[in-house]
Amino acid sequence: MPSTQIKTIEFERPQMAQGSSCTAHAWARVPATPSPQEKSELKARIKRLLVEKQAVLVAHYYVDADLQDLAEETGGCVSDSLEMARFGRDHPAQTLVVAGVKFMGETSKILSPHKRVLMPDLDATCSLDLGCPADEFSAFCDAHPDRTVVVYANTSAAVKARADWMVTSSIGLDIVAHLHAQGKKILWAPDKHLGGYIQKKTGADMLLWQGSCLVHDEFKGIELELLRKQHPGAKVLVHPESPQDVVDQADVVGSTSQLIAAAQMLDAEEFIVATDNGILHKMRMAAPGKRFIDAPTAGNSATCKSCAHCPWMAMNGLQNLADVLESGSNEIHVEAETSRKAVICIDRMLDFAAERKANTRPSSDLAQEQALFSGIGPA
Ligand code: SF4
Repeated sequence: MPSTQIKTIEFERPQMAQGSSCTAHAWARVPATPSPQEKSELKARIKRLLVEKQAVLVAHYYVDADLQDLAEETGGCVSDSLEMARFGRDHPAQTLVVAGVKFMGETSKILSPHKRVLMPDLDATCSLDLGCPADEFSAFCDAHPDRTVVVYANTSAAVKARADWMVTSSIGLDIVAHLHAQGKKILWAPDKHLGGYIQKKTGADMLLWQGSCLVHDEFKGIELELLRKQHPGAKVLVHPESPQDVVDQADVVGSTSQLIAAAQMLDAEEFIVATDNGILHKMRMAAPGKRFIDAPTAGNSATCKSCAHCPWMAMNGLQNLADVLESGSNEIHVEAETSRKAVICIDRMLDFAAERKANTRPSSDLAQEQALFSGIGPA
């Protein structure tokens, strides 16, 4: 079997007290790609084990294409983090295998506390989660008791337990606009780019934690401008975790699900995509015949942050997936009191989304659909 590779990763670590950032270090254990024969053996083994163990595979759009295909072929789902958790909660299987990063496994466990949640590698994390430790975040909240605490899904269970609301990129703008209309001041964490984008769109009073995603933070506005000149007919699809000079050039700003829908619906042959390139697999399936181009990052040096693929998402492979299914190891646990508190802010968002969905009239008008993609889209 192929061996794994340990990659060291630099990421920006906010130091809120000083108002500056520093560089922190983490690592990822990335499995080598199996040979074609190993792949087909592993896929067959996983399919057999999913049935034997009465488990369902729930995968994120950013994981390896083979895992995404397996999830769909076996009755699981491929989606964004919120839909992954909702799907796992509503599925009858008592074992959920989450191919993604740790906060996704935790959110699944919080929404399905009586189910067993397994992950291929428990060390798969996220720079937003790492950059927002619960104790420092809690002190930040204590220092601003007049603010409503809104956190992004990409946080630990302990940070969610300290929040009033959890949001995803598809519904964050709508929820902050709702709170702003009620005269609330917001404390936002952890992604500074998504927070800044929402602040600009809503005019809300938002105090921002200074975290960032090490993948999206690398997209470069100047390079994107040059690429757009080479592809004048291309539409630009951007995830709002990207820097503002990249977001400013977007035809569509949206969550992963919204960007896939845009690729399918917009009348263009070419798309420049500023999000993790794992999503291109799903975009190509959703819009066959169209051409997708990675938005430019800092360059093509040897470090894992220099291309648009998350090193922690890459820790999910066929081999470790098969192994956890076989052994039942790598189970996610969330302490009961933390879970009890964290579920409140998640349920608040789910209730808000359900209510809004019930009050939204469907429309086939593309202009309205594009307005949806700009942040008022379905959760
Ligand atoms: S792509 Fe960015 S936000 Fe997503 S898990 Fe990786 S580091 Fe976190």
